[in-house]
Amino acid sequence: MAEEKEWEETVEPKTDFGPPHYSIMMHPIIKKNYGKWSYHEVVRPGVIKRVSETGDVLYIVRFGTPRLVSVYTVRDICDIADKYSDGYLRFTSRHNVEFFLTDPEKIEPLISEVQEKLGFPCGGTWDATKGEYGLSNIVHTQGWVHCHTPATDASGIVKSVMDELYDYFTDHKLPALCRISLACCGNMCGAVHASDISMVGVHRKPPIIDDDAVRRTCEIPSTVAACPTGALKPDMKRKTVILDKDKCMYCGNCYTMCPGMPLFDPENDGVAILIAGKVSDARYPPQFSKVVVPWLPNNPPRWPEVVQTVKKILETWAAHAEKYERIAEWVDRIGWERFFEITGLEFSEKLIEDYARTPYLYTTFRTSAAFRW
Ligand code: SF4
Ligand code: SF4
Repeated sequence: MAEEKEWEETVEPKTDFGPPHYSIMMHPIIKKNYGKWSYHEVVRPGVIKRVSETGDVLYIVRFGTPRLVSVYTVRDICDIADKYSDGYLRFTSRHNVEFFLTDPEKIEPLISEVQEKLGFPCGGTWDATKGEYGLSNIVHTQGWVHCHTPATDASGIVKSVMDELYDYFTDHKLPALCRISLACCGNMCGAVHASDISMVGVHRKPPIIDDDAVRRTCEIPSTVAACPTGALKPDMKRKTVILDKDKCMYCGNCYTMCPGMPLFDPENDGVAILIAGKVSDARYPPQFSKVVVPWLPNNPPRWPEVVQTVKKILETWAAHAEKYERIAEWVDRIGWERFFEITGLEFSEKLIEDYARTPYLYTTFRTSAAFRW
């Protein structure tokens, strides 16, 4: 009783802003056993069995989703949750959807129904005790569907990559965790700064200033202040801005402030590949991702150049890494020279870091694959 009261007190009072308290949507078994879980085991790829000290057992069944889904798909997902999971489900931060089962007999029928109705594969898990890892879904950003500054798409390119890496999602075939992320511009909403493999949309041309649009729609001081490199200065006589192209790094910050200076370019926009980042501090400190391919073309609808590069990096690592060795640790052991040698990726001056920083950061934040002696 005391515990129930505690939950109720946490949930109240109701307000009209912010998300509802998470406990409201918890499966009753999870709520009842909060803080009491003893252990878990992976029954098969995509299915995790969680056992509580109270004796309760819950099976969590995980499926990959395309993230952007129609309302019809959401309704189908909810119907399946009603049928198998007492009406409860949850989305993970990497766009997997999970159902909660108390009856193990329902696992196979659930997997069959989800695959038949929705086409979502079961997987995305790993068994750390055995050192067998599956690939989780790719975390990604908005892309051409929604955002205003993308240099590449998000969902389209991620779908193409995951189609190619499908078997790694549905099975445990990797030596360690591998997090793949995509951000469609340098604002990097998609965790690409610290992922094992990252795809980042890059612009390669400065914005084109439409003086008339700037005059009519933009606030000049905030547009100038938005530029991190000081490439913009006000032209108050003409009520517009002047751009120093040599200082521009094509970040798109000014376009966020001012729609009168778009920087899209179908020919020059593309995708950079970064690797060897990680957030976890297990065995090895957290690492920033480093650029290993400066630019690949936007080639929709299937982005073959990007897909093959990501696959090559993943499979080279999987073939050469030791158990539990993430990409950052693997590269650190073999060295960047060997990495470029065995992946066959080209090392160019574009990968050499020339970003000026304070000496302290220079020696501690190694962010590129640049060779330093
Ligand atoms: S990464 Fe850039 S383009 Fe993509 S959603 Fe974020 S701000 Fe928009
Ligand atoms: S794209 Fe970025 S660096 Fe270039 S002018 Fe705009 S804000 Fe400045």
